[in-house]
Amino acid sequence: MLPLDPQADAGRRAWVACPNCDDRRGCARCEQGRTCSEHWRYLLSHVGSLLHLQCRSCTHIWAHETHFGATRTPWERITSGLRRP
Ligand SMILES: [Zn+2]
Ligand SMILES: [Zn+2]
Repeated sequence: MLPLDPQADAGRRAWVACPNCDDRRGCARCEQGRTCSEHWRYLLSHVGSLLHLQCRSCTHIWAHETHFGATRTPWERITSGLRRP
């Protein structure tokens, strides 16, 4: 297992399935596409529509292409904590 990335911050979360451990399989909230309190990933960084994520369960790090471009609404559905107060 990798250590948690220094950029990992519980205030920046993304709801994307982990390609390594699939920990949200069978979770009703995740299957409904809702923001589950258990199965979120650390959002390490993002460049354009590409997210760099780390799984809480298995510490796997990967890049996820959202294809969302610059529009705000889909971003806010899968991530939180990006907006500054
Ligand atoms: Zn995982
Ligand atoms: Zn879940």
